[in-house]
Amino acid sequence: MKIMNARFILWLSFMLFVSCNRPASAPMVPAADSCAAPLPQAGQQPVKDAEMAAGGLVDVATLDEGMMVQLVYATPYNFMGKILYRDVSRAYLQPDVAQMLLKAYKALKKQRPDLTFKIYDAGRPVSVQWEMWNMVKGTEWDYYVANPGKGGGMHNFGAAVDLTLVDCTGTPLAMGTPYDYFGYEANTDREEELLRTGRITARELENRLLLRKIMTDAGFRTVKSEWWHFNACPLDEAKQRYKIID
Ligand SMILES: [Zn+2]
Repeated sequence: MKIMNARFILWLSFMLFVSCNRPASAPMVPAADSCAAPLPQAGQQPVKDAEMAAGGLVDVATLDEGMMVQLVYATPYNFMGKILYRDVSRAYLQPDVAQMLLKAYKALKKQRPDLTFKIYDAGRPVSVQWEMWNMVKGTEWDYYVANPGKGGGMHNFGAAVDLTLVDCTGTPLAMGTPYDYFGYEANTDREEELLRTGRITARELENRLLLRKIMTDAGFRTVKSEWWHFNACPLDEAKQRYKIID
């Protein structure tokens, strides 16, 4: 029995070693609890995907095959509880923003080859923004959703990205809250207090700081209410520089 246990532990150690030491360019294993929407069949590219590609935006999945993409709004597993990206199945960014993301990714792989990015959201058509806004306006959530009536938010210009860090099995690192958690535990400007009062752990803060350092070193900016959200530039600049995604 002891020999069997020893063999099992040896096998398990080997499997973990193999899975955690894959080449940087190898594709990542999807998360076991993946809730990604099924990819469209050939010749059935969703309308907005095609429009964003035709508009010159870059599909994040083409930057590096090691980067994971799981568009939360293409599934019903989001704060709305419904699929909002019926015509969007891929993460698109402005070309220069995509290059910033690639720069951040390369820096991450250099520093932590065992980790990768998991992209939750990127370019968002303004038609979807209206749908979101109409559902949250007048509720406690409207603080978190940009009002498209005021010209749209950073995601509507393909100039913001939502992401986290995942390990070599595709499991997200603990960040203290899930993605799209609406509450001050997700804030980036209250972390000292959150740590002191036990609302987040030292390890969770360390993971947030790693993600933030990698992204800000590549030129991204943080927002105070969401640890997962990064802007490529100020909103005024995005409005001047980029066309809104209809
Ligand atoms: Zn965001």
